[in-house]
Order: sequence, then structure tokens, then C-alpha cells
Amino acid sequence: MSARPPVPLSEVVAALDARYPPSWAEDWDAVGLVVGDPSTAVRRVHFAVDPVAAVVAEAVSAGADVVVTHHPLFLRPVHGVPATTAKGRLVHELIGHGVALYVAHTNADVANPGVSDALAAALGVIAVRPLGGGVQDPLDKIVTFVPHADTGRVVDSLAAAGAGQIGDYSRCAWMSEGTGTFLPGDGATPVIGRAGRVEVVPETRVEMVLPRSRRSAVLAALRATHPYEEPAYDVLMLAPLPGPRGLGRVGELSDPMTLREFTAAAAAALPRTAWGVRAAGDPARPVRRVAVCGGAGADLAGEAAAADADVLLTADLRHHPVLDAVTEWDLAFIDAAHWATEWPWLPAAARQLTSDLADTVTATVSTILTDPWTVSERP
Ligand SMILES: [Zn+2]
Repeated sequence: MSARPPVPLSEVVAALDARYPPSWAEDWDAVGLVVGDPSTAVRRVHFAVDPVAAVVAEAVSAGADVVVTHHPLFLRPVHGVPATTAKGRLVHELIGHGVALYVAHTNADVANPGVSDALAAALGVIAVRPLGGGVQDPLDKIVTFVPHADTGRVVDSLAAAGAGQIGDYSRCAWMSEGTGTFLPGDGATPVIGRAGRVEVVPETRVEMVLPRSRRSAVLAALRATHPYEEPAYDVLMLAPLPGPRGLGRVGELSDPMTLREFTAAAAAALPRTAWGVRAAGDPARPVRRVAVCGGAGADLAGEAAAADADVLLTADLRHHPVLDAVTEWDLAFIDAAHWATEWPWLPAAARQLTSDLADTVTATVSTILTDPWTVSERP
């Protein structure tokens, strides 16, 4: 038994949220803490692709306090969780055994490192970058005008609300001196000047960048700290710039091989499934540049072709788009089981979490095959 003191679930959730911010998830997705009391003590975390009964039983027998799954338990709203339904029963099982459930789905897909980084690493793909160039978190810039004496206080307050963070530098601001002027109306109660008289005030123009997700918090901080009754400010939306996050990855094989050889290598590298691994394209074509996307990544075929990839390895591919892309773009495909393309993320995420929490928790990884395909026959 571990002698380590347990950590509260809230700390585990905070560590996972920091790696996989829920704000990165697609609008339709359902991520974060699904079941669990944040004050519960956690010693062991169990990682799995799918929140199904067999995985919960596996977690319980492993002595886990939290199950982290890639796929959501609930993607559509429900009005209840009666144990007469499969998902309701699962919630009862979890609560009955004191086990929490946390989901990191499309937010783990776009994270860096994320699901496709683990897939690329499992396949020996190196020099990996996001397909399509990747993105960074959307940024705003706030510009406001503050009487000299209050400038430091306002900058402090905006920084505390999330503005002015640039890399490892915090409280970053640009300040320039200028002159503000205004005519307070009859109903106004100005801090400086009086109603009905034009006022001229030396002011500092303050500019700070902020994550768009912090916009309302930063504006609330501005209104709370700016001395004026009606502070003047602009919020500018900054142009999106390339960054480290995004769906899919593209990189290189250190030793080029044929499509047939790479398909065999992928089958050996990924966990075994009934679905297996199959390829579309000339089996003898050379493969050097490889695009990958854990889960359903067919939509990335155009970006894979634009990145000059020789092959896109993903899951849930369909006949017509594959036929068209193989013919028109000279892009080969490798179609693996959805579950198998996402499984490599589990040990990677488990290692990250234990390291983020300074080994105060232990992590286990599910070995239960939850891909829905169970039989494969060839004539
Ligand atoms: Zn998936």
C-alpha cells in the first residue's frame, strides 16, 4: 500500500484542466468532471478510452478513486440517471464505489502534447507538428485611459484578472502619456471636475493583451478599479496566429518504408483489435511523411495532402472520400480501429498527471478492449 497522503479530487481535476482546458473542447462536446465530490481523497487514477461498465469494474478492482476517460459518458442531455438504463447504472456503480469520472475529449485532441502526439510517438513519427499549422488561444487587447495616479493600481487589477501574460512574463503593459477631456452631464458625479464644465486630465493610455476567455473577468476588474464613473476602454480582437495546438499531427519517419511495410509496422505498434489495420493506396508507394489523427480524422485529409503527407493514419474512414483522395491527391490512408488510435494517449496522459502531481497519485491504464468491433473474418 502507498504511504503517500491522498490529494483531494479538486487538485486532480485542476491538474487535468491545466493540461486539457475545458475551454478548448468543441461546443458540442461534454468534458470535465462528470461524477465526483471535489473534496474526495484520491490515491489512484485509472485511464481508459471509454466509460463502460467493464472499465468501471476494472477501475474498482484496481482500487482507483477516479476514472479518466477520453470519450464522454453523456454527450446529449438526460433528465435522469436511473439504474434501469446502462448509463444510469454506470453512474450508480461509480457513486456506489466512491469513484469519480472525469472526461478529456476534444480538449485532449487539440492539446500539445495530446492524443495525436501519443499516436505519432507510438508509430515512430518524429519532428511532429500540428496539421494545418495549429493555433494559439485567441487573444484580445484592452486599451484604457487612466489618471496617472491610478495607473499602477489598474494595471495590477487587470493583471490579477488574467491580462498581461506573455510567455513567462506577467503584468506586461504598454503605457503612454496623453490628455483626456470630457464634459460631465447634469446627472454625472465625476471623480475629477464637475457637471457642466469641460475638464482636461493628464491620463495614461494602458494596453494589455489577454486571453479572450478572460475578457469578462478583465472588464469586471477594470470597472472595479478604474476611478472614473464611466471608464473609457477599447477591446480589440487580435488576429489568430499559428500556435502549438490543433487537431492531427504530421511528421517524418526516420527510415522511409513502403505503404505495406508501414501498415504492418502500425499493426504491430498499436493495440490489437478485431478491426485490424488496413491501408488504401499503392502498397509499394514510399512513405516518409506521415499525418495522424487519433479517432475520426477523415476531415483532415485535405490538410494532410496540403502538408505533403504520404499517408494519413486515422479511424472511421469512408469509401468515397478515401477513393477520391487516393486518386486526386495521391494521399494514402491507413484505417485503424478508433479505440486503437486513441489508446496510446492513456499511458502518456497517466505519466503527465503523476508528474504534474509530483507522484502524489499513482495512475493505471485500462487494458480492456472497448472497440465495438469484435469479429473480423476474411474469406
Ligand atoms: Zn474518439
